[in-house]
Amino acid sequence: MRNKDMLLIPGPTPVIDSIYDAMAQETRSHTDGRFTKVYKKAIEMTREMFQTDGEVFVVSGSGTLAMEMALVNTVAAGEKLLVISQGYFGDRFIKLGEAFGIDVEVLQSEWGKQVTPAEVEAKLATDTFKAVTITHADTSTGVVADLEALVPIIKKHGALIILDGVVATAAIEEDMSKTYGHPDYKIDVILTGSQKAIGVPPGLAIVAFNKTALAAREQIERVPAYYADIYNWIPIMHDPSKYFATPPVNLIYAYHEGMRLVLDEGMEKRYKRHTAYGKAVRAGLAAYGMQALAEESVAASTLSCILYPDGVDDVNFRATMAEKGVILAGALAHLGGKAFRIGHMGNTTAEMLEKAVDLIGETLNEMGHQVDRANARAQFRAQLEIKV
Ligand SMILES: *Cc1c(COP(=O)(O)O)cnc(C)c1O
Repeated sequence: MRNKDMLLIPGPTPVIDSIYDAMAQETRSHTDGRFTKVYKKAIEMTREMFQTDGEVFVVSGSGTLAMEMALVNTVAAGEKLLVISQGYFGDRFIKLGEAFGIDVEVLQSEWGKQVTPAEVEAKLATDTFKAVTITHADTSTGVVADLEALVPIIKKHGALIILDGVVATAAIEEDMSKTYGHPDYKIDVILTGSQKAIGVPPGLAIVAFNKTALAAREQIERVPAYYADIYNWIPIMHDPSKYFATPPVNLIYAYHEGMRLVLDEGMEKRYKRHTAYGKAVRAGLAAYGMQALAEESVAASTLSCILYPDGVDDVNFRATMAEKGVILAGALAHLGGKAFRIGHMGNTTAEMLEKAVDLIGETLNEMGHQVDRANARAQFRAQLEIKV
C-alpha cells in the first residue's frame, strides 16, 4: 500500500497500488493502438457494469460535467425538469437547469430525510415534465433514494429518469436493464465520476444513455454545448482511435484497472459488501453516542453524515484524526461544524474502517469524551458477516 493516509472522505476515495501502477504507464499517443485497445475495453466494461443497450461515455471531466452531459442532451431550453433533491448535490441540478434555460421545479426534502413517493406522485399528477432527476445517494446527507418506489411513479407519467450515481455507481444497485414493475419502466440515464465508489483518481465523467434517452437527444435541434454534446462523442466511443478531444490517457489506464477490479469482484458482491460497511461503521460510531443524520432505513451504504455529540469541536476533531492518518470530511451548508462525513466505499476495506472507528474512539477519549472502544469494535464486527 503506497497510501500514507486513509482517505475516508466521500471522494476521492482510496486508490490502490494496481491502479497507481496502471496510471504510471508510459503516456502514449491517444491514437496508438496499444492505448486505444485499453480505452475500448474500458468503455465495454462500463457498458457491462450498467447493463445498457444504449451508449456509454467515458470522458475527461468531473462528476459535474457528467451531470451537465446528462441534462443538456435530454432536456432542451424551455422544457420542464423536476428535480428530486435530498441535499446539496440534488440542488446542483437546479443550478444546472437554470444555466441552460430549462424550466426547473423542485421537490426538496428536509436534510437527512427522503422525498416521499407520495410527494412525487402528487407533483407529477399536476404537471408534465420532460425529465426527473434523482440523486441516488446525496453526499451531503448520506440519504439514499428509493428507486423501487420512485422509478415506476415517474415512468408511469412518461418522464425520463436521470440518475446521479456519483456516490453510488459500483456500490449500490444500478442496472439499466432492470425493469421496475413494467417492461418499459427503466432508468434512462445514469451519470457518475471516477473518484467515488469506483475508486479511481478524480477526472473522468461517465454517463450512460438508454435508447429512450438517445431518442430524446435526437429531438433536440441544437444542444447548447459543444464538449458536452454526446453526438460529438458517439463516434469516439465506438472507435477510440478517432479524435474529438484528447482523452486523459493515463487516467483511462487507471480506470481500466479500476473497472477490472469492479467486475472481477462482481456487482452483487459489491452491493453486499457496501451494505455491510455502512451498517458496521454506523453501529460502531453509535456505540460512541455518534448518530447518523439519516435513519438507518434510508442511510446510504457508501458514506455517512455523522452528527457530533455535544461539545465535540469539528475542526479540532478532524485535525486530530488527520494527524492519526484518517482524513474525514466536514459537513456542508447548515450542518457545517455540527457533523462530519465518512466515506466507506470503493477500495476501502473492513480493516481500514475498523481502524478508523477505533481511532475516532481514541480521539474522543483524548478530547475528554469517555467512550468504550472495545464495545464499538464489537458493534462494528457484529454487522459484518466476514471476520476482520
Ligand atoms: C461528488 C458528487 C457530485 C459532483 O462530482 P464532482 O466530481 O465533484 O464534479 C455530484 N453528485 C454527487 C452525488 C456527488 O457525490
